[in-house]
Amino acid sequence: MFNVQTMVKEYLAVDLGATNLRAGIWNGERVTDKKKTSMVGINVHQVVEFLKDYALGSGYNFKSIGLASAGPLDVKRGIIRPINWIDKEIKIVKILEEELGVKVYLQNDCVASVLAERVMGAGKEIDNLLYITMSTGIGAGVIVNGHILLGKDGNAHEIGHLVVNYDDNIKCGCGGESHWEAYCGGSSMPKFFKKYSGIDVANSREIFEKARSGISVAQNFVKLCSKISAAGIGSAINAYDPELVTIGGSVFLNNVDLLLDEINKWIKQYVINKMPRIIPTPLDHDIPLIGAGILANNEGSIDL
Ligand SMILES: [Zn+2]
Repeated sequence: MFNVQTMVKEYLAVDLGATNLRAGIWNGERVTDKKKTSMVGINVHQVVEFLKDYALGSGYNFKSIGLASAGPLDVKRGIIRPINWIDKEIKIVKILEEELGVKVYLQNDCVASVLAERVMGAGKEIDNLLYITMSTGIGAGVIVNGHILLGKDGNAHEIGHLVVNYDDNIKCGCGGESHWEAYCGGSSMPKFFKKYSGIDVANSREIFEKARSGISVAQNFVKLCSKISAAGIGSAINAYDPELVTIGGSVFLNNVDLLLDEINKWIKQYVINKMPRIIPTPLDHDIPLIGAGILANNEGSIDL
């Protein structure tokens, strides 16, 4: 059982996302001294240099590092397989332990996030909890009957790759077809928007800006993405039967006003189980970092 009061200070919390690399100091209550850099175009050596500079500059002797990483990964072997990197299989735990000289505990970023939600956020005392991130990619962390689901490699919750339209041929970043993330992940959305409207945009933020400024094709597209996301979230609710669903990730958190009501409008038609509450995570953008801190603080244990 986690006891926040007994948590010891000075852990390095790291959130290795698809778009940003973020680091902070976990002090047992919150993450402080946050710093981030873009992941676009950088390789593993630059990741290591950023974290070494951060660790040296902080003035702390960290007891360990909690690493929350975007999937897919092999938790037991300490390997990440970032789909947007050239290096296809990176022994990140070994590399960081050698370079920084302390123990590294790796988990999927959404597993770390659901841990944070359960310990510090809206999921306290809730034994059936689903955390979903709608960000560059889409993923989840799942607690069923008080246990965090992991699977053989630590990927038991990759709901972004649920098929939401079996006879479409839109490609997902993972190489699969017609996955939820291929439509509604932040990195895929511009391609889907182009297919839908014929309009080029540089990123998903532009689409939401167009919707806010009253451009009807963008407004209808955001409604369509909300309906597809309702199908994805609804399918996850059918599989995991949670009491509470919390949603985070930059695409969702920056656009709650445009997405949440629309998702709630459509979701009932996809869900067979008793409908859980669906709310934005109160831990906001920090949720993976908080989870990474708790993970380090508990020597890698995710037992609740
Ligand atoms: Zn996929």
